Amino acid sequence: MAHQPGKFDEPAREPILGGPASVVETACPLDCPDACSLAVTVQHGKVVTIDGSHRNPVTDGYICAKVRKFGERVYGPDRLLYPAVRKGRKGTGQFGRVSWEEALERIASRFEAVKATHGAEAILPYSYGGSNGLLTQDNLDAQLWRRFGTSRLARTVCAAPTGAANMALYGKMASVTYQDYPSARLIVLWGVNPSASGIHLVPYVREAQKRGATLIVIDPRTTALARSADIHLPVKPGTDLAVALAIHRYLFTSGRADAAFLQAHTHGADELRDRAEPWTFERAAETAGIDRESLERVAQLYAASTPALIRCGWGLERNRNGGNAAMAILALPAVAGKFGVRGGGYSMSNSASWNIDRTWIGTPDPDTRCVNMNHLGRALTEYDDPPVQLLFVYNCNPAATVPDQGRVLRGLEREDLFTVVFEQVMTDTALYADVVLPATTFLEGYDFAKAYGPINLDLGRPVVDAVGEARSNADVFGELCSRLGLLDESEPSGELDLMVHVIDQLPAPIGADLRAGSLPAPPFGIAPVQFVDVFPNTPDRKVDLFPAALDASAPMGLYGFQPDPATEKYPLALISPASDRTISSTLGELPRPDVKLLMHPADASARGLADNDLVRMFNDLGEVHCTLSVAPSIRPGTISLPKGIWRRNTRNNTTGTALVPDSLTDLGGGACFNDARVQVTSLAVA
Ligand code: SF4
Repeated sequence: MAHQPGKFDEPAREPILGGPASVVETACPLDCPDACSLAVTVQHGKVVTIDGSHRNPVTDGYICAKVRKFGERVYGPDRLLYPAVRKGRKGTGQFGRVSWEEALERIASRFEAVKATHGAEAILPYSYGGSNGLLTQDNLDAQLWRRFGTSRLARTVCAAPTGAANMALYGKMASVTYQDYPSARLIVLWGVNPSASGIHLVPYVREAQKRGATLIVIDPRTTALARSADIHLPVKPGTDLAVALAIHRYLFTSGRADAAFLQAHTHGADELRDRAEPWTFERAAETAGIDRESLERVAQLYAASTPALIRCGWGLERNRNGGNAAMAILALPAVAGKFGVRGGGYSMSNSASWNIDRTWIGTPDPDTRCVNMNHLGRALTEYDDPPVQLLFVYNCNPAATVPDQGRVLRGLEREDLFTVVFEQVMTDTALYADVVLPATTFLEGYDFAKAYGPINLDLGRPVVDAVGEARSNADVFGELCSRLGLLDESEPSGELDLMVHVIDQLPAPIGADLRAGSLPAPPFGIAPVQFVDVFPNTPDRKVDLFPAALDASAPMGLYGFQPDPATEKYPLALISPASDRTISSTLGELPRPDVKLLMHPADASARGLADNDLVRMFNDLGEVHCTLSVAPSIRPGTISLPKGIWRRNTRNNTTGTALVPDSLTDLGGGACFNDARVQVTSLAVA
């Protein structure tokens, strides 16, 4: 039987009837900066509505439209309810229900068989932030992979270049939180669109504007915040590095660099100044395709404003220059002397603020093969030392989200590959599984929600019982460890035990607060001032503006610019920004209006295309068929398809990743989503 959503022998679910309802508090652990506190209304043991609560002050009683609809995932037709094994050709979704016992026994025996024939490194665990909490990732799963000796995974599909830059410069020092934005006199939103992701930042930016702050937005699209900005720089994708270096050059050559700060708190300023020297406003503006005067005005305003705050987003990292761009942007407040005042400095991921080093993973990382997750297609089709024989996917949907989709799908189709997908819903990847295991959602179990925008950590509690036979990551990885003889009886193995164990392992005051049901705070509070309350976590507590190791590893050296990969044949830059529909690809199974490719009127006219045309977007890697939206809200030469769409959302079952090369960023080994260069024609003509 071909997979029909929700039809693993599942009887129809009864509708929710009237009756008493209760409101249960929990927290959202999904891969979003905000980690909202939630008030979930439950009736007859089922989720009725999901809303924001006031427990986390930043949530302020409201949440995004995405998670308000999360009940449609929990009870939706795509929800996985039982373990199942493949009955037909890979990718066709033909499965038959089995018991947990049978499914886990099959998996455990395949682990042993692969180890015996090819070695444990022929097993590749594959995961990302689909369930971003501390229980569902890097916990008993890591125990299993490390103790069995599988290949390791470099989780680099997102935040790797910005993370590498933030670590090298500042040792991931805690950064300015949402609550301090209204104190800023100038805010630069660089490669970030909080209206779509991390929405609770928006009112703080608006409040700053009301108080007279200057807003600068740097983004190829005219987002809602760009429309109200004082200056919008619609840069070409991949050129943020040139723009940032031109501002550095201005700071150094105009005497606006803070010599005293540079002397006291940094090293490497001379080398940075040398690398910025060639980037005049003229050259940077031409490279970025922006107005020279506007760029100069941005530099002047930034130099002259205090407090000045740069919000460094993730859009600027997804290209060949992404790591160096993040380095140059994050270095600006050090060169301009913008620290030491509330609302001044930079704002980046605050994920490291809690100093949580996951001591609960009781086994060190083994020295086994490390596979960059952006090279999944290569790993499945080319790696032979050893070949990947068993792929275990969880918290992740690589068939839709990873570069070079065509090669990933060819790999997943391999008949000799045994694929396990442990998931909440029937994803594009699950359709290729040999064994599908149903996972609980965050509403059905415990987890720790750790914000990376505001500084907030909270315990999420089960709101309803597990749906169908879904089980938590902790339970399933614990049981697999036990079956494979990898877990001592004294070690925690179930979700509840593990939750208590994690609390015990957290820094004492944090654990005590969580046990008492209150919101913990790190020692420096939830709104630290950089260089007053927090300092770089580098070995000498100084900002390293020119780390030698990064200079050696970047293809063009540190702050070195790689030119645009566009060709005459493929001149358009495709970007895939976050949308208001999905969290990465989570919730992509829900119905949505037709997914549209956004194109500037000049590009459409040059191709004889009009609004609502069916188009073919293509390059040498693949093609995507979808509807066109023509609007001036994107710069000419750049087109945009939403991030996180599923294969079902386009006319030919591909996503934008079908056009994305699996090349890596200059620093951090990240994905170059925005380096896809394509052509677009009418589908009718094609
Ligand atoms: S996805 Fe983000 S904005 Fe939405 S509920 Fe979760 S934390 Fe809040």
